[in-house]
Amino acid sequence: MRVLFIIIFSMMWEYSFPQADKYTSARNEMVEYQISDRGITNSEILKAMRKVPRHLFVPKEYTNDAYGDYPLPIGYGQTISQPYIVAYMTEVVKPNKKKKALEIGTGSGYQAAVLAEIVDTVYTIEIVPELAAESEARLKKMGYSNIIVKAGDGYNGWTGHSPFDIIIVTAAAEEIPRPLLDQLAENGRLVIPVGQAGAVQDLILLVKKNGKIEKKHLTVVRFVPFKRSKNQL
Ligand code: SAH
Repeated sequence: MRVLFIIIFSMMWEYSFPQADKYTSARNEMVEYQISDRGITNSEILKAMRKVPRHLFVPKEYTNDAYGDYPLPIGYGQTISQPYIVAYMTEVVKPNKKKKALEIGTGSGYQAAVLAEIVDTVYTIEIVPELAAESEARLKKMGYSNIIVKAGDGYNGWTGHSPFDIIIVTAAAEEIPRPLLDQLAENGRLVIPVGQAGAVQDLILLVKKNGKIEKKHLTVVRFVPFKRSKNQL
């Protein structure tokens, strides 16, 4: 009788909370203390970050650290950003269901997944071919049919799918790549860390208004460097 009750209860639980897994409470705490308490109010972002299983985006040895308040290594010298930075960059580009986004620096695919929960389509480019392949497989397995991953140098953007309402660059560039500005839609928003690698960089927001770019300094951040592929220099 008791066993039957437990089985029925757990089936009902799974049904009511389809995203429930052993990290659900860690994920909810991450959203409450690291994201919401620090001023991110966009309910779509909070909902997306409560849903996306961040522990599946980090290497196995870091699974238990996946909801910590810091970036983590993802191999090939790259990192998955701190959860708050993901939330913040997502908030400043004002995502909604009608928007088309481009991300430069797929990495683990986590930022792309959070964005894809909210926008129409996410195009994402990763320069390390192994990371591009791993993330493409991971996102496909999770059912994200609105994320399109490409391996390559994101400096030149993705002309075939431009213009983009949102462009998120998750690697630190010494200067803003001109092709990305050209591929920004009217009223489009581009967020990018600008500065030398190895130091802190300025997180810059660029908004295209009447064809002109308005620039705003947001905060300082620390990102891995934006690299260039030799055959595109
Ligand atoms: N958004 C990622 C964080 C990635 S770290 C996540 O959610 O996990 C930055 C990534 O940018 C790295 O994987 C790095 O390989 C990639 N990168 C650096 N320069 C690039 C370029 N020119 N084009 C595309 N990707 C680049």
